[in-house]
Amino acid sequence: MYVFVRERLESESFIPEGRIFELLEKTKNPDPKRVREILRKSLEKNRLDPEETATLLNVEDEELLAEMFEAARKLKEEVYGNRIVLFAPLYIGNACVNDCVYCGFRSSNTLVQRITLTEEQIRREVEALISQGHKRLIVVYGEHPMYTPQFIAKTIEIVYDTKLGKGEIRRVNVNAAPQTVEGYKVIKSVGIGTFQIFQETYHKKTYLRLHPKGPKSNYNWRLYGLDRAMIAGIDDVGIGALFGLYDWKFEVMGLLYHTIHLEERFGVGPHTISFPRVKPALNTPYSLKPDHPVSDEDFKKVVAVIRLSVPYTGMILTAREPARLRDEVIKLGVSQIDAGSHIGIGSYSSRDEDEFKKSQFTLEDPRPLDLVMRSLLKEGFVPSFCTACYRAGRTGEHFMEVAIPGFVKNFCTPNALFTLQEYLCDYASEETRKVGEEVIGKELQKLPPRIREKVKEGLERIKRGERDVRF
Ligand code: SAM
Ligand code: SF4
Repeated sequence: MYVFVRERLESESFIPEGRIFELLEKTKNPDPKRVREILRKSLEKNRLDPEETATLLNVEDEELLAEMFEAARKLKEEVYGNRIVLFAPLYIGNACVNDCVYCGFRSSNTLVQRITLTEEQIRREVEALISQGHKRLIVVYGEHPMYTPQFIAKTIEIVYDTKLGKGEIRRVNVNAAPQTVEGYKVIKSVGIGTFQIFQETYHKKTYLRLHPKGPKSNYNWRLYGLDRAMIAGIDDVGIGALFGLYDWKFEVMGLLYHTIHLEERFGVGPHTISFPRVKPALNTPYSLKPDHPVSDEDFKKVVAVIRLSVPYTGMILTAREPARLRDEVIKLGVSQIDAGSHIGIGSYSSRDEDEFKKSQFTLEDPRPLDLVMRSLLKEGFVPSFCTACYRAGRTGEHFMEVAIPGFVKNFCTPNALFTLQEYLCDYASEETRKVGEEVIGKELQKLPPRIREKVKEGLERIKRGERDVRF
């Protein structure tokens, strides 16, 4: 019976397109009083309802917009404090049977170099990443019969198994094609963090037009991809939309309905939300002129409205965006960014002129990790490589940050400071080390005295050479 209900359910979309259009129409020119009421609800850390999110998406008045951005900043500060988690993407292979029109890896692109890393090449890439100071990766794959769950699991094992000096990768997240429940179980068994799948566009007609070939042309198989991951026991899942394919307001509503669906079915929403914009890819005309380009101003609204709509979820901003925009947008609610990223396959360990020919698209923030660390520190952020919750078996950490009083002060800040101290001891340039030590000093002063003493003790242990100190 359960299986029958599930199958019937999964033949239906949980994205009510008609209702989304209706809500976006009905909430045009919103009353300032109503907008402020919604901002207050959000600041009390409540997830918003679709009508409320639609209202925020329709704010255009300059003054109200400023209030909305301010509320997003405040919410971020209150919930997550000034920590920013850092990670890097690692592309394992770009063979692909799909033909997503915006992607440099699409099967009809004959100019892209097709590469799948060997075991030895993966080790070299991971060593290069460790030697920058990275501790958290997301591994990325095209969709191809070669990339079976067993293959994906094996490559992740190699990542965990690769060590260099005192360094190691402590959390591997995954961005790969949707799997069967059995497939997810195989991948889960090697110990993954988040499994990410982006729906690209929630608008079905547009989806079908832009994904003309291969398994990805099945909208519902992808839409329920993370349901199957959760059924298989993967607790942390990441959703996302690729902005530029369809109307940005519709996509934000899609992300919210996806969130509500996961909450209703599994009692917990997504661990992270991603909101990449389409960027130029090799020999890919659509990527240069997407149908619905999103301006920088609208992109800021996307970030603020997602932050306010789902306060308990991590938000990921990638190096697709240029440094100056990243600096601005981070303050509106982002909790994770990548840095020092190379997306040409094999490009961490062997730099060459041809990176673009092995890449899915272009990155606009090419700064090395140390420079991003320094820039964050100078802005008063605490860059963090923390993986403590994942390794202590505490899933849904973002939820705990919001829901459990004192969680951030007792766990998150201390652990962020420990991983920052490790970075300063092992990888930082002299200049970054100086700014970093100052920030640690300031952060210590903000901690309650009892915790401060314990953190100081941990920091001393790290300076004496101990690694992986955590609460
Ligand atoms: N091949 C798998 C899939 O499509 O699900 C794994 C993910 S793909 C390698 C990673 C993500 O990159 C896609 O989900 C898509 O959102 C994004 N992407 C593809 N082409 C892009 C482009 N031209 N600019 C920005 N992001 C792009
Ligand atoms: Fe293949 Fe993914 Fe690119 Fe689509 S987005 S062509 S599935 S790599």
